[in-house]
Amino acid sequence: MRFPAPPLPYDPVSDHLREECGVFAVHGADQSALLIALGLHALQHRGQESCGIVTHDGSRVYAERHLGLVGEHFADGETHHRLPGAVGIGHVRYSTQGATVIRNVQPLYADVRGGGIAVAHNGNLTNSRILRDELVASGAIFQSTSDTEVILQIAARSERASASNRFLSALKQIEGAFALVALVNGKLIGARDPYGIRPLVLGDLDGAAILASETCALDVIGAKYVRDIEPGEAIIVDETGTVSERFAPVRAARPCAFEYIYFARPDSMIAGISVYEARKEMGRQLFRDAPADVDVVIPVPDSGVPAALGYAQAAGVPYEMGIIRGHYVGRTFIQPTQAKRDLGVRRKHSANPPVIKGKRVLLVDDSIVRGTTSRKIVDMMRDAGATEVHFRSACPPIKFPDFYGIDMPSRDELMASLQNCDEMARALKADSLGFLSVDGLYQAVLGAARNADTPQLADHYFTGEYTTRLADHERAASDKDRQLSLLVDA
Ligand code: AMP
Repeated sequence: MRFPAPPLPYDPVSDHLREECGVFAVHGADQSALLIALGLHALQHRGQESCGIVTHDGSRVYAERHLGLVGEHFADGETHHRLPGAVGIGHVRYSTQGATVIRNVQPLYADVRGGGIAVAHNGNLTNSRILRDELVASGAIFQSTSDTEVILQIAARSERASASNRFLSALKQIEGAFALVALVNGKLIGARDPYGIRPLVLGDLDGAAILASETCALDVIGAKYVRDIEPGEAIIVDETGTVSERFAPVRAARPCAFEYIYFARPDSMIAGISVYEARKEMGRQLFRDAPADVDVVIPVPDSGVPAALGYAQAAGVPYEMGIIRGHYVGRTFIQPTQAKRDLGVRRKHSANPPVIKGKRVLLVDDSIVRGTTSRKIVDMMRDAGATEVHFRSACPPIKFPDFYGIDMPSRDELMASLQNCDEMARALKADSLGFLSVDGLYQAVLGAARNADTPQLADHYFTGEYTTRLADHERAASDKDRQLSLLVDA
């Protein structure tokens, strides 16, 4: 089943905390905080604004939450002294909203009847506003503006006897995308949304259970990959072992296409598929969809590299590092104003003229969102002496926003939502512009064309067909008296 795009105008920026995040958890390993710090470090690409770890040592819960990078706060080798225990969960977060305040930093935790719950969440709930309004109407006091707190509030009100059952019953009420790790009275719980939009894997380190957003975080601590958590599955780990429970019907996973295109680290495997191989294949498919007669293929580093390699191999054209990336610049994409984004791109990328001068150049990037990066880089190629500049996007035109935890601007900022391919090419001043087709994307990731009988991806960015209903948006227009949010630091 697929759900239609919400009508324009809808600006998810103005009334949602949009988060890209990573989660990591350990059960049954001494000095779990050291492992969590390492795991979070490997997931740093999923969120750079804040990080936090909560552990449990059998009698007490310990927590540290910070704004900033994992390396700034958890790299001193002392973390396990401050956060003792063999069980723990961690989180990295990247929100584009002004509310980057400590009260929104995860893991969130609360005391409920029967024990304490700490929770860390990657994804976005699509009915959290409705649930929040109901909870506020019945007297709930929210401490954060994060949708994750809704889960704690529902668990606190549940009639079920144990804290872990309360937490599990909350999972039945939330909709959208979530990969959750939770610490409930020393038990570790991991859960993945009913469609498996966001990734979550189970690993094993000498008998200790590990949960992580991506397999690259298992690799960094030397843990073995066991399996992906199933869509709609929760696993509960305690001293007696691991139990699996379903909180939603069995369904085939519909993983987010953008994990494969851009978000996940290329050395990760999602649903058993290598992200690197999928990206390289996107490049090969891109050549089939949008060939060009050129002298050299140049990746926009780093995210365009595997696709450019695939394109160059399929085209039989040399591949060169024609753009050099400065590594000490933050992500250009998250700068709040266009002027700052423009400046950011120039600081981040510079041309390597010897491989460009006098050549017909084809640039490959993973995606065009607002067009900021591509516009600058096309100019840069001409300034460096390219005779022609062709641009290729290794994903289809992005026309629709995301509501499942990938930072994507509203429709009136998405270049492909406003312009057709020719208009975009003119705006970018490119000699030609081409995109991977949706079928090419399916071929690259799943090895099969997109049709009703094949596995599906969450591909709403390109199709406008959403994997879940978007309950908050259906109600957004009439929503005048919801709780105002205090943007205070605390
Ligand atoms: P833009 O410059 O606005 O067209 O954005 C495209 C560039 O941003 C590409 O180089 C992508 O690698 C990168 N990008 C795409 N999606 C995201 C995202 N959700 N968060 C951060 N960067 C992104």
